[in-house]
Amino acid sequence: MEPMAKIYASCDVEDRIYRLWEENEAFRPEVNPEGEPYCIIMPPPNITGKLHMGHAIFVAIQDLFARYYRMRGRAVLWLPGTDHASIATQNVVEKEIKKEGLTRHDLGREAFLERVWTWVNEYGQIINNQIRKLGASCDWSRSRFTMDERANQAVNRAFVELYKQKLIYKGKYLVNWCPRCQTVLADDEVDHRDEDSKLYYVRYPVSHPQSSDMFLTIATVRPETILGDVAVAVHPDDPRYKKMVGKKVRLPFTGRDIPVIADKRVDMEFGTGALKITPAHDFTDYEIGQTHSLPLINILREDGTIKPGLGAFDGLEVTGARKQAVKQLQAEGVLEKTADYAHSIGVCYRCSTVIEPFISTQWFVNVKPLAKKTIQVMKEERIEFIPDRFTKVFTHWINNLHDWCISRQLWWGHQIPAWYCEDCLDKLKASKPELDGDDAPLYTVVAEKEPQSCPRCGGSHLTRDPDTLDTWFSSGLWPFSTLGWPEETDDLRKFFPTHLMETGYDIIFFWIARMVLLSEGLMNDIPFRTVYLHGLVRDAQGNKMSKSRGNVVDPLDMVQIYGADALRLSFLLNLTPGNDMKFSEEKTTGYRNFCNKLWNAARFIMSSRDEAFYRELVSVEVKPSALSLPDRWIKSRLHEVVKETTTLLEVHNFGEAGSKLYDFVWNDFCDWYLEMSKLNLDSSEITTRAAAFQTMVSVWRSILSLLHPYIPFITEELWGQQNRMMGSLGEKDPAHPLLVNAPWPKPAPFDCDKDVEQNMDHLRSAIQKIRNLRIESGLTARAKADVVFTLPVRSKQIAFFEAMEPSFRRLAGLNTFSIGSTISSQEGMVEFIEGRLHVTVKFTEEIDRAKELMRLQSELGQISAGIQRLDQLLGSESFVRKAPEAIVAKEKAKRESLLQQKELIEKQINSISSDTV
Ligand SMILES: [Zn+2]
Ligand SMILES: [Zn+2]
Repeated sequence: MEPMAKIYASCDVEDRIYRLWEENEAFRPEVNPEGEPYCIIMPPPNITGKLHMGHAIFVAIQDLFARYYRMRGRAVLWLPGTDHASIATQNVVEKEIKKEGLTRHDLGREAFLERVWTWVNEYGQIINNQIRKLGASCDWSRSRFTMDERANQAVNRAFVELYKQKLIYKGKYLVNWCPRCQTVLADDEVDHRDEDSKLYYVRYPVSHPQSSDMFLTIATVRPETILGDVAVAVHPDDPRYKKMVGKKVRLPFTGRDIPVIADKRVDMEFGTGALKITPAHDFTDYEIGQTHSLPLINILREDGTIKPGLGAFDGLEVTGARKQAVKQLQAEGVLEKTADYAHSIGVCYRCSTVIEPFISTQWFVNVKPLAKKTIQVMKEERIEFIPDRFTKVFTHWINNLHDWCISRQLWWGHQIPAWYCEDCLDKLKASKPELDGDDAPLYTVVAEKEPQSCPRCGGSHLTRDPDTLDTWFSSGLWPFSTLGWPEETDDLRKFFPTHLMETGYDIIFFWIARMVLLSEGLMNDIPFRTVYLHGLVRDAQGNKMSKSRGNVVDPLDMVQIYGADALRLSFLLNLTPGNDMKFSEEKTTGYRNFCNKLWNAARFIMSSRDEAFYRELVSVEVKPSALSLPDRWIKSRLHEVVKETTTLLEVHNFGEAGSKLYDFVWNDFCDWYLEMSKLNLDSSEITTRAAAFQTMVSVWRSILSLLHPYIPFITEELWGQQNRMMGSLGEKDPAHPLLVNAPWPKPAPFDCDKDVEQNMDHLRSAIQKIRNLRIESGLTARAKADVVFTLPVRSKQIAFFEAMEPSFRRLAGLNTFSIGSTISSQEGMVEFIEGRLHVTVKFTEEIDRAKELMRLQSELGQISAGIQRLDQLLGSESFVRKAPEAIVAKEKAKRESLLQQKELIEKQINSISSDTV
């Protein structure tokens, strides 16, 4: 037998174990060929990414379920991948070439994309290797990238299909525009921040009918947009402006005349109640403009500067233009006043540049029909959200969706599969100089592969749309494109719809919603059955982790110091779905101690005696009747824990399941069972020794199995060691050389041994109490105790405690132990009640009376408080009326027992006090 290292060193074990799994292809669904399928698609981390706590949390949770269901015999596919993250990746590479003094335009599209691919090929594996460090049991042989060839086929097919169904169209629309990234942003890609600005009150003189002393004052935060004003709107019920509607006012700067119109959307309370309308640069104005058929005057270039032809404003950026506007308004004498104004502005989620509403021709997904299907799915409860409260949030959001702008003016991404026929376009322009989105189908060819000629006119002058698709368009196809769609693959047939989608609640709209919409549109089915949402990882104080705060914890550092298993436990045991969690390094230290405890238990089980000792015990046939009370107890407890954890894991409650396991292993198995077994291993009876050893090994194997989904590395390592030990003792080849592919423990085919469990609980409490007495009464550890249990005569428990006497003596440090029916009080005697036991203890050392009195008084205080609480509860009419009878009875029994204890303590206090006097 090989000797075990004294201390568990995770860093020596984890990489080796991971290699072992990969070499054995242990993560492929083919390991359980007959099993019912179970599929999780991993949220693809950005290819630019470095592993952070958010990744660590999703790996821990998804891996737990992958491992659990694999052990339950399912054909588990956990499919990994990475996301091309168009904006993020393009920004990273743009920054790189900036160091060389270049822009992407200097390089040109093709050369720039080559640079991106080089970058991706060089750095794209980093994140995957980091995910391996956490123990992810995903099938790397099926790994995908959102920009790979097959993903591109899926994207093109999806675009063409949806275009055919009229679910994709081209249109002119006011969009969120980032002048820095020079691209459209979806509504949810716009962040908001508060800003202190000024509100400018500007007079527009009435120009028609002419009247020199009349004017209308508008209030605006953005005076530079006066250049694009096309009307002033007032509320139809506003008495101040009743007479103004229908008149015309003259704009500063340009001297253009614009109408005064009435519209109910105007807020009478804001500013002066007269709203300047700039449809090309404001979302509300755009809607009002559409209703009143107002023209659109675009004053901005794509880089956010003012267009040419606008005098002194030409080429200015927004801030400069605003200064220029204020200067000119003052000069024209129309600036009535300014006021401070705090409001919220939209900024780009990538680069924090202020967003400009901007008129642009873009591609859109017509969301309404897809949303309707999705609402139906939610009504039928075909997708379960954990926690449930997100069902409502999600449905509400889907109900209020606007069309989704999917084109982006970026180079890195899936280029839109649409070509424009120049011949058709020329013909069209001849008859209609100003084209809009509705005309697009007349000159556009949408196709999966590059068309050779225009199907309309046969011309061959086709130009591809230079734009790329929103990243979320390709990630929205992820649950089926990864399984091979549009091909009818075996994986698609077998694993779609998938089972679990697990991700942070922060991307429920970005991503979850899009997957459901596109799956409804293209697969006519839900993409997944259960959505599990986790929260953010915060620091120990509950602050958001951020670079500026300097409180970012790097998960790889934690793996290095404490091991991946300990890190995983700190998530899996402390997480509530949908809520943010505080990450505490101190707790992680505790979980490393748990791993050490397991290691020590293994050393005890496998190497506390010599090989000849174990060899003798392996072949002994142990009948159930030969099992000692501790053996029967631990088997019963295991049986219960298997049942409980299985039930909890089936409803995704891994936190509670994990806590139960943790307590069982730490307390029941390591602290009590192994301790009590020491005597049995030393028994003169070989059957007792064999029973202890064989029970220990079988329970140990179940423990390793139960813990495996939580802490895969150390359990696999110990499983291997146990197999090798049993092999060297002559056991035949183990049925499951790898724990990762071993079965999940089944509850034993017997009922729990409730009597043994209850008696063992009383015994443990009595031992604990005696240990505490020693400390609290100021005695040394050497102080032996004489203990008498008083039990009703002929109690069934008597046999139990008599049999457990040797363990009891050893664990509680007893001098004598006896069971009697009555006992008379003696000086220095301490009494307490534990269940039906009345326990009297007398130590061989003198008890410090003052300390003893203090101890008793503090205990009396606690007991009295407990009684008071129960009195209150049982006195409450609503509790007694509403609570189940059994609960009420239980609380009453608790009160009864507390009263007995109180009486006993009072008696002892009296006795000590009278002695002292
Ligand atoms: Zn930006
Ligand atoms: Zn054509």
